Amino acid sequence: MMPEIEDELRSEFPIALRDVAVIECGDGWHELVRDCADAAERATIALVGIKEKFGELRVDLQGGEIPKSVVDAVESAELRSRTTCEVCGAPGGLQVVNGWALTRCNVHDPSLRESRIAEVAEFLRGKKALAEQGVTVDRFEFDVTADEFEEAVRRAKASKP
Ligand SMILES: [Zn+2]
Repeated sequence: MMPEIEDELRSEFPIALRDVAVIECGDGWHELVRDCADAAERATIALVGIKEKFGELRVDLQGGEIPKSVVDAVESAELRSRTTCEVCGAPGGLQVVNGWALTRCNVHDPSLRESRIAEVAEFLRGKKALAEQGVTVDRFEFDVTADEFEEAVRRAKASKP
């Protein structure tokens, strides 16, 4: 999690997060973490650990009597993490990439990202070959993010047509 976001959560929920050394999940889940921390803070309960495991948010609670409001908030957040992109918070689902379970939206799914970059790089290589024959292609609808497009341009330039 970005230090700015984590610091903000820590100053907002000093009791709930005092025993959590590091919030070990992506920025996309910060609203889910906030909901858990908010419930814990109101009940003056310190959470023990917050992390991503097998593509889901895991919030560890201390032993003993935990108010239902905190248990409910944690269960709800863990459930929602299964359908929330850990990177950006958009709707997502479980993706298994190189044996790792990750909850990602379509934009942040590493396997789709890879195939889109390859597709655009291929198109740009074709465009370069056409340009060498005096044909120009002005428009093309890219369903890619800006950094994916940059990556595709870089790869197209690096490879021989
Ligand atoms: Zn995302």
